[in-house]
Amino acid sequence: MTESDIYALDGKRVWVAGHNGMVGSALCRRLADEACDVLTASRNDMDLRTQADVEDWVADRRPDLIFVAAAKVGGILANDSLPAEFLYDNLMIEANIIHAAYRQGVEKLVFLGSSCIYPRLAPQPMGEELLLTGPLEDTNQWYAVAKIAGIKLCQAYRRQYGCDFISAMPTNLFGIEDNFDLASSHVVPALMAKMHRAKQDGAASVEVWGSGTPRRELLYVDDCADALVHLAKTYSGEGHINVGTGEDLTIAEIAAAIAKVVGFEGELAFDRTKPDGTPKKLLDSRLLNESGWRPAISFEEGLRRTYAWYLAHKATQ
Ligand code: GDP
Repeated sequence: MTESDIYALDGKRVWVAGHNGMVGSALCRRLADEACDVLTASRNDMDLRTQADVEDWVADRRPDLIFVAAAKVGGILANDSLPAEFLYDNLMIEANIIHAAYRQGVEKLVFLGSSCIYPRLAPQPMGEELLLTGPLEDTNQWYAVAKIAGIKLCQAYRRQYGCDFISAMPTNLFGIEDNFDLASSHVVPALMAKMHRAKQDGAASVEVWGSGTPRRELLYVDDCADALVHLAKTYSGEGHINVGTGEDLTIAEIAAAIAKVVGFEGELAFDRTKPDGTPKKLLDSRLLNESGWRPAISFEEGLRRTYAWYLAHKATQ
């Protein structure tokens, strides 16, 4: 416990909901450095979309702190093509966990959202106060609406019942344990897998969706987990907190950086029939920075770690 900490993890029972996902597994790695007990539930234990399952599990296991890292997630195409799943699954998961946490008197809960909660054409960088000031990006509005509801649930339970539930909004994430399936993944794992395959096959070019001009801010997942643990220890308030690096790159620059790490030397073929999505979504992470947190892993280093993991776990040689 340092001086600025207001919540101690020592001896606490910490449930990482969604521990098999990219963020959940990074949280488990990070929490291994704390003197707390990490609780996890498998899909066989319960369906997070079923209220009775979640209520029973929380009543039985009695966590002190919950990280809501469970969500139906996916890249631009998955979001656009599975609107019902992205809205329903995420609403149910967060409502069930937050309500069960209130009913069982859980001390603290950290809800995770994403930078897509902000209006499509929000001024950049996007401060927390821009929430609900304009229309959302079409391609991921379903996910965004669910995540905005999650922020509001945390605020409502804080106001009405005094629950210490906080929300963190990470920027676009990447890293080990990411989803490399081309139909549902985000840009970094998708381009890494495509470039790896192209290198193996000696292909002359790789398809990059869209125009290459949208800008994205990318945070390595272990940095994100570190920020979330920092917030659990140091923050208690109604407002959600942005979690980003403060820097963004164009998709063309991101593709070039991945090509370098993978060792792919061919052309990038931009497919303008695929959607660009939001032109730019750079978070203003000043509140987090002022609370004493900074990312530690550069984009290039994150890419190297991710590619090493991909080679060891996913790549077919
Ligand atoms: P977004 O941040 O919600 O738009 O999610 P993504 O990470 O899926 O996409 C970010 C940007 O990368 C969009 O402009 C995509 O069109 C672009 N992009 C380029 N190539 C790919 C690809 O192979 N897969 C994905 N998912 N996005 C790509």
